[in-house]
Amino acid sequence: MHRITLVIPVFNEEPVLPELFRRLETVFASAPETEWSAIFVNDGSRDRTAALISAQAARQPAFKLVDLSRNFGHQAALTAGLAHAGEADAVVTMDADLQDPPELIPELVAAWKQGAQVVLAVRRSRQDTGLRRAGFDLFHRAFQRLTDFPVKANTGTFGLLGRPAVEAFNQLSEKHRFFPGMRAWVGFPHAEVFYDRQERAAGEPGQTFRRLVRYALDGIFSFSHLPLRLVTYTGLITAGLGFAIGLFFIVRRLLGIEIAQTGFTTLVTLVLFLGGIQLVGIGVLGEYLGRIYDEVKRRPNYIVKSRSGF
Ligand code: UDP
Ligand code: MG
Repeated sequence: MHRITLVIPVFNEEPVLPELFRRLETVFASAPETEWSAIFVNDGSRDRTAALISAQAARQPAFKLVDLSRNFGHQAALTAGLAHAGEADAVVTMDADLQDPPELIPELVAAWKQGAQVVLAVRRSRQDTGLRRAGFDLFHRAFQRLTDFPVKANTGTFGLLGRPAVEAFNQLSEKHRFFPGMRAWVGFPHAEVFYDRQERAAGEPGQTFRRLVRYALDGIFSFSHLPLRLVTYTGLITAGLGFAIGLFFIVRRLLGIEIAQTGFTTLVTLVLFLGGIQLVGIGVLGEYLGRIYDEVKRRPNYIVKSRSGF
């Protein structure tokens, strides 16, 4: 008998929880030979999310709650859930808002039973539009180019990790976490299962656009040194250009060719342009420095307030 655990971070998901519970129960009932459990990580919700999950845990022993002491963010909540899934043979990671349909879980499990240790749920279609959509596309393209650990476009949290992959993942203690990248980093045989991404069943996305941008930057800075190298290259190119221009003026001076001393516009443009490049360079350094600072503080990624159902 296989033990399969779902890890579901939840933040203010009161409106979707009843339907989520119902659909999970249906999935569990459809494969009674499996020992199912669902770990909900309450990420400091301000509504009745924790109460609903506790009530469900009291009714159904398969449902468990890890209650965090405040809102730590989606990635930290996911990390907390994976750390509590030690007993499972495989862990399914998914969002609570039913954008990741629970009905796909049996397919993920089937792919795992065929030998894959990491199963990715790949979106055939995406409901997001406009700025969000453009942002996702841009990020995926940039990420593929910048890092050595390509993350498959159109994959997110949704997927399955076999026990060895979960154990490997739990050893990664970094503070700025980017789950899809870390999942690519741990390796193991991968498989893919396709699905159509749904609209959020109810409620508002807790991941604001600003958070998504920060998440995207975390992904890039945590998995690539290329931004630093780009600063170096830009510096080399501007220094080379400066040298060439300097040489040009010296030679012209030596040949005795003098022209009127204007060039104010050129100077202003150059000063501002170079100043700008330097500030960007410092900014890139700062991104890494801030991350190093967060790492050396060695604070835990989350604090657990209470657990029920364990
Ligand atoms: N979530 C969380 N903490 C947060 C924000 C979101 O645990 O601070 C959960 C949320 O309840 C959901 C999942 O993370 O289960 C994904 O969030 P959301 O649907 O808002 O993100 P999106 O679908 O826009 O990526
Ligand atoms: Mg969502």
